[in-house]
Amino acid sequence: MAQTISYITGSQLLPLKRLPNIAIIDVRYSIWVCLLLWEFNNLRDDERSYDGHIAGSLHYASGTFTDKISNLIQDVKGKDTLVFHCALSQVRGPTCARRLAYHLEELKEDTGIKNILVLERGFNGWEASGRPVCHCTDIPCKGESA
Ligand SMILES: [Zn+2]
Repeated sequence: MAQTISYITGSQLLPLKRLPNIAIIDVRYSIWVCLLLWEFNNLRDDERSYDGHIAGSLHYASGTFTDKISNLIQDVKGKDTLVFHCALSQVRGPTCARRLAYHLEELKEDTGIKNILVLERGFNGWEASGRPVCHCTDIPCKGESA
């Protein structure tokens, strides 16, 4: 089964993200790398914003993505649509999405995953358009809070 990766916009994702068959996979760096990067780029000064995420999203840092790929497949059991994103969805989001697609092809096992999507403009775009961001520290995030 050949998987193609397509993009989904934030406004398309917003009404879909509560559906039980959709999983959102956040592949941004771990919180510590984010802190370093943000410090370095001096982009932000509000510490509480650092760990914001899309409510209900699963976090699989891109650095360890390949090692954790079987955990991910377990975690998304019953979901047929996976939406990947990183901060901007330019490099890591699509890379991890493709890596999963290759993995699924080699697995030759029906995981039920039918669609692999990448969120256009990533988390930064999502947040910048004022869409709901969750600040919980639950792993995994169970929240739907705005
Ligand atoms: Zn949360």
